[in-house]
Amino acid sequence: MAALKMAERILQLRTRRQAPLRPISLTVANWNVNLGAEGSRTQPKLAVLRRLARADGVSLAMLQEVAPGGLIRLQELVDEGVYGAVIASPVPKLAPPKRSVLLVGRQFRIQQQVRTVHGVKAPHKLVWVILNHESGVKITVASFHVVPASQYGREAKRDTFRAIVRWMASQTSRTIVGIDANSPITDAYCDEHGPECLCETRYFPGRLLGLAHGRRFEDPKRDSSRPRWTFDQEEYLLHDRLSAPPLLRHSFHDLLRSFLRRDHAAATVARSHFLKIAKKQPNEGCLAVSHINRGNKRRFDFIYGTPDIVPRRVEYRWKAAHMAGADHAVVIAAIEITDRR
Ligand SMILES: [Zn+2]
Repeated sequence: MAALKMAERILQLRTRRQAPLRPISLTVANWNVNLGAEGSRTQPKLAVLRRLARADGVSLAMLQEVAPGGLIRLQELVDEGVYGAVIASPVPKLAPPKRSVLLVGRQFRIQQQVRTVHGVKAPHKLVWVILNHESGVKITVASFHVVPASQYGREAKRDTFRAIVRWMASQTSRTIVGIDANSPITDAYCDEHGPECLCETRYFPGRLLGLAHGRRFEDPKRDSSRPRWTFDQEEYLLHDRLSAPPLLRHSFHDLLRSFLRRDHAAATVARSHFLKIAKKQPNEGCLAVSHINRGNKRRFDFIYGTPDIVPRRVEYRWKAAHMAGADHAVVIAAIEITDRR
């Protein structure tokens, strides 16, 4: 009898240990905020960040392009109790003042020191950290900004994609990445295979496809006004993971596209949005506007997650961000953290 009781007890313990994680709901945001210390555009952007926390329940915001003065202004939001901490890259302390990436969060505790990704020209634009949520869940979070080729050169942009994707492919636990990718040129809605298919998506320059989708430079739809523009920035490594070489094949998904797969109404809106833009920008278009690049509407800003991050709602807020003086939309994702891999 005692042995049976003992066996039951062991079973209970085992069951408890193996019990699935109760899904945890969180709202996260990504925004290329372009924040300086002063100026008419600083206060409205801080107001947006306040609203994100208070009205939208955002507990983690991944930000890009924050000047050292902007970092000081973000600290005001911590002093007000809007966010619990500013988690900044360690690099600006060592380098001249630059526009860096960082995170603001609440309900989180930093588990390990903030780190950057090495092997790139601008490490202050790549930061990641392991956080402990108050629920006890551990999560790795990154804020990345792929350097624009116009400023840093096309090699530097390619090297950033390689470094980011190498890092993503090496992640073994749940991770969220907020990123201004300065890519792709065409963020297509594929009618035939659904919102997660990238067979019509094209990358700078020359409107390349991913390898799995017949990647080639001689693309009949390429920009004929730029005949010699054939340098491969390898953007597909991020967006089209199945096309990447095995060592660089990450497991992350674009939360907007996986949300559209789950939500038929939202997919219909995204599809008509894409078609409307494609009429004005032949062979181009995007599922949601996040940036206007040389007069063309693009979706350059993303939240990526490992498979255990399930999107419940993903929204691109262009108007509110634009009214506050930003040139990138705020991306908001209500997510559920599960133990599904
Ligand atoms: Zn397709």
